[in-house]
Amino acid sequence: MKTRLNSIKKKITDAAVSCGRDPADIRLVAVSKRIPENKIREAIEAGADILGENFIQEAREKTDHLSSCNVSWHFIGHLQSNKSKYAVRMFDFIHTVDSIKLALEINKRAEKINKIQNILIQVNISGELSKSGVEPEKIMDLLKEISRLKNISVKGLMTMPPYFSNPEKARPFFASLRKLREAIKKEDIPGIFMEELSMGMTGDFEAAIEEGATLVRIGTAIFGKRV
Ligand SMILES: *Cc1c(COP(=O)(O)O)cnc(C)c1O
Repeated sequence: MKTRLNSIKKKITDAAVSCGRDPADIRLVAVSKRIPENKIREAIEAGADILGENFIQEAREKTDHLSSCNVSWHFIGHLQSNKSKYAVRMFDFIHTVDSIKLALEINKRAEKINKIQNILIQVNISGELSKSGVEPEKIMDLLKEISRLKNISVKGLMTMPPYFSNPEKARPFFASLRKLREAIKKEDIPGIFMEELSMGMTGDFEAAIEEGATLVRIGTAIFGKRV
């Protein structure tokens, strides 16, 4: 585990350096969905400090059993608004907000526990019908609505391009997300921050870093194939 984690970290550093970025600006989210707790514990001991989970029920058990570990939990799965209560309790970041309905529910739950919830807006950058995420044309309106919500802090954008065996094919989608971020920054919407770009997985994180990723979400390369 330690060897694999260190090898990923080295690849992240190398990708950053190769394009003139500071490696400290890129953080690794170790994606632990469907990975048993003993393996997650090993990863934490080997130095993983952000864990990404996709399913609320599964995350409730894991965060409970691993509550003594000093790690940050990020939610990267599809969130149903009726599960927002749990998500707000457990996660430092929710990467997958794509509707005002969901944002309102998160805001309400965060207000109840006096929390400012960090979120990212998931963007359907490829326009695939099957994908979650807000369409790029609709993001400004969504951000303007969310900017009024006091218990939500928008920190950036997240995307998942279509799967390609060749990571170079994913690169244009990563570049599009970066350009969308620049366009949003120019709008200067109050309370909307755009420092984070959550993009890149096991197969394509180096291209994502070259295109500006600040959070890479990597599962398989750390934990091996999921069952
Ligand atoms: C599972 C998952 C990942 C990690 O994928 P790997 O290919 O195993 O690195 C990243 N992001 C999201 C949203 C996922 O669901």
